[in-house]
Amino acid sequence: MLTSSRQCRCCGATFAQLLSLACDRPDLCPEDTPQQDNAAITAETGDVLTDDFCRIGNLHFVRCILAISLIGGDEEEFVLGTWASVSAEDFVDYLDLFDMPETEGLGKRPAWLSNAIPPGVGEPVAGMLNMRSPGQYPEMTISETSHPLYSLQKKGANLEELFELLYSYGHDMASLVYDS
Ligand SMILES: [Zn+2]
Repeated sequence: MLTSSRQCRCCGATFAQLLSLACDRPDLCPEDTPQQDNAAITAETGDVLTDDFCRIGNLHFVRCILAISLIGGDEEEFVLGTWASVSAEDFVDYLDLFDMPETEGLGKRPAWLSNAIPPGVGEPVAGMLNMRSPGQYPEMTISETSHPLYSLQKKGANLEELFELLYSYGHDMASLVYDS
């Protein structure tokens, strides 16, 4: 099932492709802010969006991932590319060590999920950001127990829960699977 090449009705993406979804900027970052190379984050002042960093006013964001394992999915994961806001100090630490072997030494830092996931579920959500080895995005773990992502990360998601999550992004895989 998971490896089948069924395609979503809305966009033609295969189920395997839909196992990762990405937000290109924090929700607080205006749509018209151009996405620049990472160098711009230190070279420019004021509001800046780059591939992996974002600064809006005195808020600091880093690109990260949030993984949900699939129950019965043979170690398959649903991976959301998202953004987390961190303190100014942690932002500078991360920026200094970005792409260097020492990144891992940063360990876990408190962070706030900065995209509404699923869409419509608002408010910043508290979590921990695990700074991993170079080339890997930091990984966000939700610590707010009342948030829907908390239990999905803790227990993993079954197919129905995953379809529900995809459906909230407009991807209708469920009807395809159950119709046939
Ligand atoms: Zn779709």
